[in-house]
Amino acid sequence: MKILVINCGSSSLKYQLLNMDDETLLAKGLCERIGIDGRLKHERGADEFTVDAPMPDHSAAIKIMLEALVCKDRGVISDIGEICAVGHRVVHGGEYFSDSVLIDDAVEQAIKACFDMAPLHNPPNLTGIRACKQNIPGVPQVAVFDTAFHQTMPKKAYLYALPHALYEAHKIRKYGFHGTSHKYVSMKAAEVLGRPYNTLKIITCHLGNGASVCAIDRGHSVDTSMGFTPLEGLVMGTRTGDIDAAVVPFLMEKEKLTAQQVVDLFNKKSGMLGLSGVSNDFRDILQAKQEGNTLADEALESYYYRVAGYIGRYAAAMNGVDAVVFTAGLGENSALLREKVCAYLGYLGVKVDPEKNAQRGRSIDFSAPGATVRAMMIPTNEELVIARDTKGIIAK
Ligand code: ADP
Repeated sequence: MKILVINCGSSSLKYQLLNMDDETLLAKGLCERIGIDGRLKHERGADEFTVDAPMPDHSAAIKIMLEALVCKDRGVISDIGEICAVGHRVVHGGEYFSDSVLIDDAVEQAIKACFDMAPLHNPPNLTGIRACKQNIPGVPQVAVFDTAFHQTMPKKAYLYALPHALYEAHKIRKYGFHGTSHKYVSMKAAEVLGRPYNTLKIITCHLGNGASVCAIDRGHSVDTSMGFTPLEGLVMGTRTGDIDAAVVPFLMEKEKLTAQQVVDLFNKKSGMLGLSGVSNDFRDILQAKQEGNTLADEALESYYYRVAGYIGRYAAAMNGVDAVVFTAGLGENSALLREKVCAYLGYLGVKVDPEKNAQRGRSIDFSAPGATVRAMMIPTNEELVIARDTKGIIAK
């Protein structure tokens, strides 16, 4: 059973074609510069190629992607009819969705109803869905939401301390994101530990350009650091994370900015980029630190501190923790980051084995002997979760 996974952004479209009989990846790629000019980067194992082709819209991008998949010489399927279903990553499902769903008109309307809460993500996600319906007609389409896994959070965790009427009127609350990743790595951690998922208290740290921490109590997300939007929580590549809301009017007045300009500043020019003045990429900041840049050093220390603070908070939320799991670009690749964060967690019972921590590329429990809380690195695979959910839904 071949399933196509689509992650559609405003000018880009990432895809993977998976054979879900054995969960192997057949091909993957990226359409970029949609609406500008258009480029396809396609990979089939070690075979990679790039095609510059006009992509005036997402529908054109999908046509070019399909051509690459069925290409006589370098394709992986002989006919589009081999694609059994399409799974779409959708960022915001609001309170409408606590699980993945088969897409119909009502689902499309609900995705649309969340546009205000995810203006950069949900509109292109819906565009991708419609473009697939147009180009691969009759094939079931499934939506997998970043927010769905967190719909199990209790009210005490998701309500902001605003007048309750504002929650009722506008659904202003914490939603949380990266749900597919938190779900995948926490389940995988249980598998690696050889213990039942529904008995474990796990804290997962998805640390990429965007970053969030999640408390998973016996299989259920009970709190997470991102909020109403993906701006809240940790220090991120270019995002502030937590900040006093009173800074907004203060900056509007002092810097003569509109509210939207302040939010843009918080989203795009802050975080590690803003603090260090160097880059949003951790590697550049580490390099700058080595060259004696003190702002880079301070930015790194703020990053570790904020992650460790959330882990402590979630250990309290669950009255204990069995495993702390690191994942995504930084969490998977930076042994230093894991070591620095874990250095705050001795009181919990975390102990790091530096040799194990230096390994890369596969799931590891890098705890030292005597640790009472496991420290782990698990590579995430959001596309596989989307494909599994899609397979499960079309099988029903
Ligand atoms: P996204 O949120 O865009 O999916 P990723 O999960 O791919 O991001 O993470 C990208 C980030 O991972 C980069 O900005 C970089 O800071 C970090 N990263 C990747 N490789 C390394 C590495 N070897 N050491 C430190 N940081 C890394």
